[in-house]
Amino acid sequence: MKDSIVEKTKERWHRKRMHGQLPHNLDEKLIDIEQSYHWLKSGDIKGETEGTIVAAQDQAVSTNYFKNKILKEEIENKCRLCKHLEETIDHLTSGCPILVKNKYLMRHDKVCTHLHYSLCKALGIETTDKWYTHSV
Ligand SMILES: [Zn+2]
Repeated sequence: MKDSIVEKTKERWHRKRMHGQLPHNLDEKLIDIEQSYHWLKSGDIKGETEGTIVAAQDQAVSTNYFKNKILKEEIENKCRLCKHLEETIDHLTSGCPILVKNKYLMRHDKVCTHLHYSLCKALGIETTDKWYTHSV
């Protein structure tokens, strides 16, 4: 019975025009769906943060593309920073040539810092208390 309810909820989610973006994108064969949803099961982030991330994954954030295509507002759908490409969530998170110069690099370095911190902890190497104060 529980599996049936979960399956029906999943089907309703897939059918929603806006909120079905993430599961639609995850249907590709190269994506590990179990791993893609693992962060939701760990329960170590605040509900508000989880909601913001899920909204971004569903493309339900007020980008110029969203305002133009979904809300039908008379607004240019191009990126406010580079002004060349459509301002979608995917563009803002990984495709904007303006953000690649510093924001994406900062994000990359933070991921590497967290990875290095985790490896040090696992190997018993002395670290700081918090990963974000750790330095390589
Ligand atoms: Zn851009």
